[in-house]
Amino acid sequence: MNSSSSRRFPGVSRTLSSGRSAPRRGKNASRTTNTSLSASNVLSPVFASIMEGRSAARGQIGLAAIDLTTMDFHLFSFVDSSAYSSLKTQLQVLEPVEIIICDSINERHSNAVLHEAVRSVCDQATISAVQRRYFDGARGHEMYRSLRARSDPNSKLENPGDKELCLAAFAALVKYIEHIEGFLFASSSIRITFHEDAALCVMDAETWENLRVIDRTSTAKGKDRRTIFSMIASGTLTVAGARLLRASLLQPLADEEEIGARAEAVEEMLEKPHLLERSRCLLACAQSIDSILPVIVKKYREKTISKAEHRIVQLVHLRQTLQLVEKLRQLLPNFLSPIIFTKAETLLDDRIEDIRSILDDTLNMDVLSLNGKKNSMDARNQKIYAIKKGLSTPLDVARKAYEELLKDLHADTRELGECLPDQNVQLAYSASRLFHYLWITHDANRVAVPGNFINIVRNKASLTFSSRHLMKFNDRIEQSVCEVMLESDDVISEAIDAIRPHVEVLYTLIDTLSTLDFLCALVVYATERDTVRPSFGASVIIKAGRYPLLDIPGRPVVPNDAYLTPSSRFALITGPNMAGKSTYTRQVGSLCLLAQIGSFVPAEAACLPIFKRISSRVGQNDTLSENLSSFAAEMTGMAGILASADARTLVMVDELARSTSVEEGIGISYAIIEELIERKCFVVFTSHFLDLATLDASYAAVENFHFAPQVRQTSEGEVLDPSHTLYRGSYAGPLYGFEVAELAALPAPMLQRARELAERLHEEWKSRREEEEEKLETREILRCAHAFRDLIRQPRGSMTKANLMQIRARFLDVARARNAMEMEDNEEE
Ligand code: ADP
Ligand code: MG
Repeated sequence: MNSSSSRRFPGVSRTLSSGRSAPRRGKNASRTTNTSLSASNVLSPVFASIMEGRSAARGQIGLAAIDLTTMDFHLFSFVDSSAYSSLKTQLQVLEPVEIIICDSINERHSNAVLHEAVRSVCDQATISAVQRRYFDGARGHEMYRSLRARSDPNSKLENPGDKELCLAAFAALVKYIEHIEGFLFASSSIRITFHEDAALCVMDAETWENLRVIDRTSTAKGKDRRTIFSMIASGTLTVAGARLLRASLLQPLADEEEIGARAEAVEEMLEKPHLLERSRCLLACAQSIDSILPVIVKKYREKTISKAEHRIVQLVHLRQTLQLVEKLRQLLPNFLSPIIFTKAETLLDDRIEDIRSILDDTLNMDVLSLNGKKNSMDARNQKIYAIKKGLSTPLDVARKAYEELLKDLHADTRELGECLPDQNVQLAYSASRLFHYLWITHDANRVAVPGNFINIVRNKASLTFSSRHLMKFNDRIEQSVCEVMLESDDVISEAIDAIRPHVEVLYTLIDTLSTLDFLCALVVYATERDTVRPSFGASVIIKAGRYPLLDIPGRPVVPNDAYLTPSSRFALITGPNMAGKSTYTRQVGSLCLLAQIGSFVPAEAACLPIFKRISSRVGQNDTLSENLSSFAAEMTGMAGILASADARTLVMVDELARSTSVEEGIGISYAIIEELIERKCFVVFTSHFLDLATLDASYAAVENFHFAPQVRQTSEGEVLDPSHTLYRGSYAGPLYGFEVAELAALPAPMLQRARELAERLHEEWKSRREEEEEKLETREILRCAHAFRDLIRQPRGSMTKANLMQIRARFLDVARARNAMEMEDNEEE
């Protein structure tokens, strides 16, 4: 691939910033096997183009992007905030290596703001400002009509009207890529998907990071941390399947029907393990099917040997994949779930047979059977004889010449006979050394090689060498191979031209295979862990849930419940350090995320709402690039969350305002909590400010939970261990702060004074709390009543036995506590 610096696009007015050692991805992607699928290497080179609305259309963004491996164009049109938060998220999903921005002379200032926003999320990408004239909406619409695959049912863009901006971005992007990459897009060959306000769940980069969904830093640091992606991707077999998984995790579904359809397919596959196994065996043969698309879409101006070879290999590969389709056609109807059924139907498309017969008329069927381990000569011959005999006279002549040369070479044994008679020397071939002599001998290091031989390489039990005579032969053979390739390419070009009108079905086929692979990976995950299919309702009800990344077979993990309903939707969690507070917030978030991609979740039972947005904020994350103090960064993050939080948002806040003074921290936390309650979102909020626990007295929505340590007796006295178990109610201390201070060897009298002060403060807090006790008790009863009401209001299917048991247990708790208190009162009387 050419870099932008070697070929300059005539419309680039300024290269605004270029990625620091930007990794060029993609080349490896097609070679990736399932063992090395990571979030970064399933990405292929994506180019993006951005056009911003002006005057009346201010705030409107048009974004076009293409993935050069899958040749998938995506056009986005949306209204964005002044901080470009939607654009930033979308760019983070796409991870482009090059971005072009419209450069209009009169708008330099706002361009700079946009550029800054883009750079903040794509610091590895090359960003160039391209002249305004290339961003032409009308031209974009014309291109759209001529380039899109003919039978593309996506007709939304027939009326360009309000899509002007993304069509303009599309026009500039097509021209830019054609220039920079040196090919033309063949007409009627590409798939263009238009995304309007999609029915997806929105997450931001910080939430991906907090929940460890993907690891965006791994490429920079050269190591992969375990992530939710890597955990499930280990079950995928194709690059396209892993890519679909990544996209689903970053932008989960928010449509109950779609999610349900996936989960249903997963459940069915779980019940039919033998069919699953067979499907996976077939998928393993289709590892990089999508690399066929660039071959069909790109039209090069000049022929080269390497491109010719590549095209031949890809067509052979496509033919092999079509063999697999036949087997899938028989296998898939054994599944009844609608999603697999629909996908199986796409395999019956006549156009697949049309492509197959074009390939059968072109390719030599003998080379198709050359699978598995091939030596260099087999691999080369597969390309040389890939095209059927009799299709092109010049090709047949060229191959004849090649064969003659080989015959001459093998017959010409004079050189060896004269110089090394009676030795075990033979002619060998390798892709890098071409034809050479191989002498097998135990004395490889000592034997003398006559002076007319050159390029001697000694190995342990053999040595290889060449001669001027042999090198001349190699030159002639290579020339004749080039001839064969170039002649083959003419036949291949005809075949590709014939396939192109049917290209749409290849996009569909790739979708089918990747969806199948993705679903199989979810099944593999569900089989390997103790998981359950979640149901959907109005509340978060998780029984014995586990954080997926701690949930490793053979390692102990403490399961915890979660219970958030519309009327009791704010879980305030307190507890000492290392108790498991952060892990718990992640657990709730990642179970919701998994459920929304259609996966099973690690729990005994789970009923979850479908969120439109999952946001999180973790204290003490320094965003050095923005040069903000931790506190300011936290507040910016919270402001972003608050701007869009509503009743269909899940918010996780972990240790807010740690890096400011206690009074300020508590004050800010109060204000933010009140706002979150006002906005009716579901919240898991952890804090070490015990004062916040009193909020449940003022707000019915707030419920206190805590992690308490476990007391263990040792010979030296009591030791506190974290139990990682969540309890109802607020934490009453201790926070282990003193233990840590003691370890840090602070002077004993000072520590004693601190303990006394802390105890006094704690007593004051306790007596305040007792005054509120009665109010809280009434609230608890009301809460249980609400829980019952919520449960009754839920759709029938989602009311599980687990939900009922949970609420019953709570009622009994409350009733028991009440009885105990009444008995105490009676005794006193
Ligand atoms: P906190 O946020 O309260 O300081 P963390 O959530 O960071 O605590 O957890 C501290 C450590 O305890 C982590 O290393 C984690 O692996 C472990 N841990 C947390 N929750 C659990 C659990 N439910 N089961 C087992 N280990 C846990
Ligand atoms: Mg923590």
